[in-house]
Amino acid sequence: MYKDPKNFNKMKGAMFNSFLVESTKCLEPTETCTEELIDSHSIQDSRILEVLAEDNHVIRITFDKSCISKSTQDNPIMPYCKYDSISVHKASVFKGLCNKHDTEIFRPIDVEVLNMDNKEHVFLLTYRSVMKELSTKIKVAGMAQSTYLSKKNLGEISGDVPTIEGIYAVQLYASAYEMYEYKKLFDEKYLSKDFASLYNKYLILDGNPTFATSAVFTPMEMALKKEEVDEKLCVNIFPYQGKVFVLFSCLNEDAVYLDKYVDEIFEATDYYQKYLISKLVLRNCENTVFAPRYFKQWTQSKKDTILKFFHDTLYGDYADYENADLYIF
Ligand SMILES: [Zn+2]
Repeated sequence: MYKDPKNFNKMKGAMFNSFLVESTKCLEPTETCTEELIDSHSIQDSRILEVLAEDNHVIRITFDKSCISKSTQDNPIMPYCKYDSISVHKASVFKGLCNKHDTEIFRPIDVEVLNMDNKEHVFLLTYRSVMKELSTKIKVAGMAQSTYLSKKNLGEISGDVPTIEGIYAVQLYASAYEMYEYKKLFDEKYLSKDFASLYNKYLILDGNPTFATSAVFTPMEMALKKEEVDEKLCVNIFPYQGKVFVLFSCLNEDAVYLDKYVDEIFEATDYYQKYLISKLVLRNCENTVFAPRYFKQWTQSKKDTILKFFHDTLYGDYADYENADLYIF
């Protein structure tokens, strides 16, 4: 509760401002660039998003931030997930690179024919996912920090003793820093062209283009089992040349971990294989976009089930939850 009710409204203003906070420095591997950042696509717009798009828009799942303006001190409304139509120019973007570095670093995967047996292509697809994840984590930590500082400046909390807000911001910074260290490993490998230092497994499936995703994650069921988890997996799924490319990648030292996690998918076939991939995506990949023409065919029950599963798995495991409505191919 707020000591001064007016401060609650000021806080809401501070939260909106903090949504504008982005990482401020080019994430190129030498960390010396001072050029202005642009919106980089974590999923290619010209070759992939446009295949999914209708009227230049795709569907994504996002948090409904309107709950913040509707919230009052007596009736706080928690953020909930919703479907959102978004322009392909804005979908999957992150601010983390300047124009020159975005173009230079990723040119091979932006202009060459993609080949999942090409180590450089696999490396660059993964590297871009890592940069997007780092940029997102910096942004989220910055939001929590500015919320904490504005509460402190309004005198609602003391800066001298630990508070939930302060601890939360510190945890998010720690998580962003951990991702930064992970990204530094990729920087070194990129600079020495050590593209073989990644392990990958892929599938090329038949089927219509229905969605695309790009994410780096530590699966929750693994995170729950250990004190400290630094293994990370990367997944990129996208329609390409009339097929659906499914690429899993990680550092060589995490290969055992990746094999274990996707084992069931590679043993499965046809419908069940795609069902398992669907579940993996909805459980781990926030950065997913759907084709509007496919989304329109979903029943209300399917839309609700997917939204609820997407939301619930942000906070819990739900590995054993089964529902045919989770199928997104
Ligand atoms: Zn740059």
